[in-house]
Amino acid sequence: MVRVLVVGSIHMDLVVVLDRFPEIGETVIGRDFKMTPGGKGANQAVAAARLGAETYMVGRLGRDFFGRVLRENLKRNGVRDDFVVEDPESYTGVALIFVDVEGRNMIAVAPGTDARVGPSDVDSALDTLGSVDAVLLQLEIPLETVTYAAKRAKEAGALVVLNPAPFRPLPEDVYRHVDVLTPNEVEARQLAGRFGEYATLRECCEVLLEKGLSAVVVTLGPKGAHVFSRDFEGLVPAFKVPVVDTTGAGDAFSAALAVALSEGMSIEKAVVFANAVAAIKTTRLGAQEGLPYREEVNKFLLERGVKVG
Ligand code: ADP
Repeated sequence: MVRVLVVGSIHMDLVVVLDRFPEIGETVIGRDFKMTPGGKGANQAVAAARLGAETYMVGRLGRDFFGRVLRENLKRNGVRDDFVVEDPESYTGVALIFVDVEGRNMIAVAPGTDARVGPSDVDSALDTLGSVDAVLLQLEIPLETVTYAAKRAKEAGALVVLNPAPFRPLPEDVYRHVDVLTPNEVEARQLAGRFGEYATLRECCEVLLEKGLSAVVVTLGPKGAHVFSRDFEGLVPAFKVPVVDTTGAGDAFSAALAVALSEGMSIEKAVVFANAVAAIKTTRLGAQEGLPYREEVNKFLLERGVKVG
């Protein structure tokens, strides 16, 4: 069993479905409401745990109602919460989401304790665990912590996978400590500094590879993912599935890729596996609820005659 450490955000998504968005000062009565556990860090941790990895989460929760619910949710999904700190200095992060009948959204995030995840949290996990196979990172916690976690993880010999979302400019020294970067196409262009300019995706990824990465895997939604690395370059097509909800597909993809690479799959096979995990997720509602278990992924691949193991 591979051991994965996820360092990142844990928050609650509160979604109100409305006929139309309110104007400033106006109250609009909603049609529906849903509360779902979210945060890219927590989504990736649940994804890795359901795929069978021994998964530890490093993050923070407030001493409040959502904090208790979210900790319970991680445990119920098989994620080890030993390094999820209860921080009384702030509140558990929330995302307030309005969705209108046309499917458009408006989102306000209050990061709360996510903004307080620090290098000492990373130290306590890595000092206790010693070695892990992979460390998964995203950008919903302070950049200083992401950079520090990448550096320490790399020194400890772990595979470092960074999902650079939501986009923020990254300090140059992060790249030296990251093995695999998993941007979508917009993020890849923004990180390469070629946003809005005429440049091919390959040119953008070459800029990123030169910074010290082993591979850039660009997710392309229904098209699949394009791998740029020394060993392999090419498009790995997505699986054709009846799509219901794509939220969290990118998180499912990054987590699956980290698990598969840790298990020793080649990058090409690992991307096929990650495409399968993300495709199954898109057929179901919910960023976390819709994540598949390992047996479901094996069955999905078997039915399509695809071998990755
Ligand atoms: P993000 O939401 O982070 O921008 P993408 O939209 O690129 O990420 O999706 C991540 C991955 O999810 C894709 O690389 C693909 O494997 C899978 N995926 C997304 N949309 C679809 C789809 N319509 N059909 C099949 N797979 C999909």
